[in-house]
Amino acid sequence: TKTLLSGASGFIAAHILQKLLARGDTVVATVRSQSKADFIAGKYENEVKTGQLSFAIVPDISVLGAFDDAVTEDLDVVVHTASPFHHNITDPDKDILLPAINGTKSMLEAVYKYGKNVTRLVITSSFAAIVDPFKPTTPDVVYTEESWSPLTLEQGRKDKNCTYRASKTVAEQTAWQFLKDHPDAKFSITTVNPPFVWGPILNDISVGNLNTSNEVLYKVLTGKLGPESKFPVAFFVDVRDVAMAHVLAADPSNKEIANKRLFVNGGHFNLELVATIMRKLFPNEKRIDPNFGSTDIETVRKNSPSYDNSATTKLLKFDYIPLEKCIKDFVEQVYTLEKS
Ligand code: NDP
Repeated sequence: TKTLLSGASGFIAAHILQKLLARGDTVVATVRSQSKADFIAGKYENEVKTGQLSFAIVPDISVLGAFDDAVTEDLDVVVHTASPFHHNITDPDKDILLPAINGTKSMLEAVYKYGKNVTRLVITSSFAAIVDPFKPTTPDVVYTEESWSPLTLEQGRKDKNCTYRASKTVAEQTAWQFLKDHPDAKFSITTVNPPFVWGPILNDISVGNLNTSNEVLYKVLTGKLGPESKFPVAFFVDVRDVAMAHVLAADPSNKEIANKRLFVNGGHFNLELVATIMRKLFPNEKRIDPNFGSTDIETVRKNSPSYDNSATTKLLKFDYIPLEKCIKDFVEQVYTLEKS
């Protein structure tokens, strides 16, 4: 299988790349610059030497046509992960909305025009495209693969708290609409819709420069986030599970998974539960905010929305990595990084 992976320098994509190469795919990885390609190449010297891994430089996914050169006739599968996920928003359009939406549009159009042999396009969407931020956060509200965020492009432009979630919602809508508008397309789409993704880091980042989701775990560990901070997401999933979902979806022979939304979910959390687990696993860690009480998963569930992702479970057939293991593996890696 020859697979194009966009945004290969990212936190999640680094795990997808590892699994695609281990499966034996030939991978073309898109990154924004040669230095990002060099970092990845350094980890996979052998695969680069044998031609199993190569790179395409795509400096800005906001530009329509960005993927026209990267998508070629010999590709079988495309996995599109590149999309901005951060909160340093000055200009909502330029910083978040355009790269997310035009990036997806450019990939769809390039695959349609130039990827004549592509039969599966996997897109990293998000729980942000599922959750309705205007609904209460009580257990009677149940999220499933059928749930959609009501956020619009306009709301994303007006309210910076909504920008990222609107970007993921509109980008995913663009993908499904493209298939409706192009009934002759030879490829099917599968989206992966994870909530907060945590876990070990394989890409080029340091503890001072973590990706947006892992930064939250690190802030709880180091006392920079305390019980007063309200946190808008109720579910987490381990990055290794998210990567596995992408790799299973990136298999054109898996017909059942075509045209599905995969709502991968490792379970409930809140920051108090994270602090409780960290204190238990790392009793010598003194930086965690002492104002955090102790809690358990049952209490968290009673005060959060619910989810039913049984349709995804039927398709993926794997057991999710539990929150304790996810936190343990992350914190152990952080301690090593802090020492270096
Ligand atoms: P990262 O920030 O680590 O990865 C984002 C990737 O997108 C990077 O490769 C980045 O390149 C690339 N990118 C961002 N903006 C642009 C741009 N304008 N032009 C070209 N490339 C760009 O975050 P994650 O790994 O967490 O995110 C990957 C995907 O997963 C995204 O689609 C995100 O929305 C989605 N997601 C993430 C969740 C999470 O909790 N982490 C939850 C749900 C969905 P560069 O390295 O050069 O910056």
